[in-house]
Amino acid sequence: GSERAKERGMAYYKPSRDSFSADRLTIVSELRQALINNSLALYLQPKVSLTSGEVVGMEALIRWPEKQSQLRPDEVIDIAEQTGLIKPLTRWVLEQALAMRSGLLEHGWNIGIAVNISPNNLREPDFPSYVQRLMRSFPKHQGRITFEVTETSMMQDPANSLTALKQLNANGIPVSIDDFGSGYSSLSYIKQLPAREIKIDRSLITELTTRAEDRVIVQTSIDMCHSLGYSVVAEGVEDEHTAQLLRDMGCDMIQGFLLSRPLPFNDALDWLRQSASQMSEFPEVLANQ
Ligand code: C2E
Ligand code: MG
Ligand code: MG
Ligand code: MG
Repeated sequence: GSERAKERGMAYYKPSRDSFSADRLTIVSELRQALINNSLALYLQPKVSLTSGEVVGMEALIRWPEKQSQLRPDEVIDIAEQTGLIKPLTRWVLEQALAMRSGLLEHGWNIGIAVNISPNNLREPDFPSYVQRLMRSFPKHQGRITFEVTETSMMQDPANSLTALKQLNANGIPVSIDDFGSGYSSLSYIKQLPAREIKIDRSLITELTTRAEDRVIVQTSIDMCHSLGYSVVAEGVEDEHTAQLLRDMGCDMIQGFLLSRPLPFNDALDWLRQSASQMSEFPEVLANQ
């Protein structure tokens, strides 16, 4: 998270450097309070099939509206991970995601919701049993709540992460590998993961139309992932040309601002209605199927 922040050169807040500052202590207690007061928000971003044009799912992304101008979501997650607040935070996210999926179902949208999971969660001894209990109480969501984990974060504790993910997967949680190609990948490790889907990191997608090297890497990744039986999602697709290129390359799904920014629940519902009724407003690459 903070590495990514540095990369963009826009980190106004450095959790690791001022771990004990008054500012940070304030933020931590405010985050704890925000969890208690239910003042965090969960946004949804659609994921769309490049072959059918259908919306195949939504990714849930945390927002802290009061701090929107101060902290990016990945920085909020960093702080939560460093303070143990990631445990209640992830549980809040999961419970929200279940409620949102119920809401989508009520409106006739039977699509999955993907939740980002921290490696710290996989280290909680009671996490798999908590998830299992939760999913058993809501059988209608069985198999439609997906976990996204990043390859890099799992490498902190590969054996335990693998065990926890296998247990979760055996209990009906599909797994996606997030940010593929952004860090040090260990393909021998990835192939052991009970994952169905690989999400190619935005850093390889943003300049796809202009960088031949990125096209080689992305094409090779798509082909390799398909041969290994994964479906492939491209993250961070912002323009039509990139979407067309990805379709020609055989990529299965896209996510990105071209389709929609992450949206609050009601706006996501409006977006779904619009995408169904006015395909003409939809990016051309998807409308012409
Ligand atoms: P991620 O899981 O890889 O999520 C994708 C990020 O890319 C999101 O940033 C999303 O808003 C952004 N994005 C999507 N499409 C585009 C695009 O076309 N262009 C650009 N420039 N950006 C795009 P966001 O919401 O700021 O989240 C950042 C990261 O924070 C996430 O990366 C994820 O690692 C983490 N995160 C967010 N919510 C949660 C959560 O509830 N739990 C955990 N553990 N991590 C979370
Ligand atoms: Mg994700
Ligand atoms: Mg990602
Ligand atoms: Mg990411």
